[in-house]
Amino acid sequence: MSGVLSWFGIGRADYRHSNLDISVEIFDTVIARISHAVSVSNREEGGKFIGKISQNGNQIKIRVETYIDSGSRVNNSVGHLMPDGEYQEAMFRVLETFDQDIHYLGSWHTHHCNGLAELSQGDIRGYTETVNSRQYDLDYFFALLITDLYGSELRKRYYLFVRSQGSAEIPDSAVHIIQGTSPLEQILKSAEEAAFSHRRSQANFYRGASEHRPQMEVAADFMQKIRSEDRGWILNHFPRAQTLEAKKDGSIYWRWLISLDDGDLKVRYQYPSYSSSRPAHLEIIYDSEEVISENILLNSSRFEQIDKYLALAMEKAKSIALRNTK
Ligand SMILES: [Zn+2]
Repeated sequence: MSGVLSWFGIGRADYRHSNLDISVEIFDTVIARISHAVSVSNREEGGKFIGKISQNGNQIKIRVETYIDSGSRVNNSVGHLMPDGEYQEAMFRVLETFDQDIHYLGSWHTHHCNGLAELSQGDIRGYTETVNSRQYDLDYFFALLITDLYGSELRKRYYLFVRSQGSAEIPDSAVHIIQGTSPLEQILKSAEEAAFSHRRSQANFYRGASEHRPQMEVAADFMQKIRSEDRGWILNHFPRAQTLEAKKDGSIYWRWLISLDDGDLKVRYQYPSYSSSRPAHLEIIYDSEEVISENILLNSSRFEQIDKYLALAMEKAKSIALRNTK
């Protein structure tokens, strides 16, 4: 089965109606390797897809056969991923000596570590730039986003970016995981394993000499720990809470509702965008009135701070409801 895409162009000017008929096949060995990479990391990971693409009229077929990992010099954290482009480029040249018919046709990356269930503004900007760049050979760029990991099961979303047109989400029904192994898989799997073990030994090395670690890395690790603890606490208390990305500055925030007798408390808990030495911010709205706007210090007492303000918000909401009925 394939899927006909409807566009969500980036910005109104890009909006086009389209009847592209797309089907995507992904080798199961690719999914297995992604699952493994995601399960051993609590940072953003990713890779460049290698495969084949064919077009017949408005029908596009993409087959993802393998991928190049982000390299041992990857720069990543819980909230960002900068692959080693030099390594990926060099590796691609090596692969071409085995098979001249391969294409770089997209990429995957993961948000399992930060809970953002969609592409970030930065992701969309980056993919749009890639598909529109002169160096990119194709008119299509296929993106796979891992949004979560349940046991060994990946939650996935798929997108297609089209040169000078825009992008669209590809429905699950148009994507098929099929049995297959690229002849290049063994090389790339070994390279990825080597990169991971190199990164592990670097991390151990740094742990042994923590005062020499770059400040940025220490900060990223700190936020990673905070966010993963928060995720556990928040979803335990408010299972329907969602993480989103602020349009203004790209900072990550949690949003959830608490239903009261006479309306909802709208809670927003936002992380600082750059520095981990700044507090998070908690905002609670009731009946379009701001009842709480407080900083939350990111230390071990933050859940008590949040609980205290939630209780206060409920009291304020009660008196507002009372006032409204008078
Ligand atoms: Zn992303």
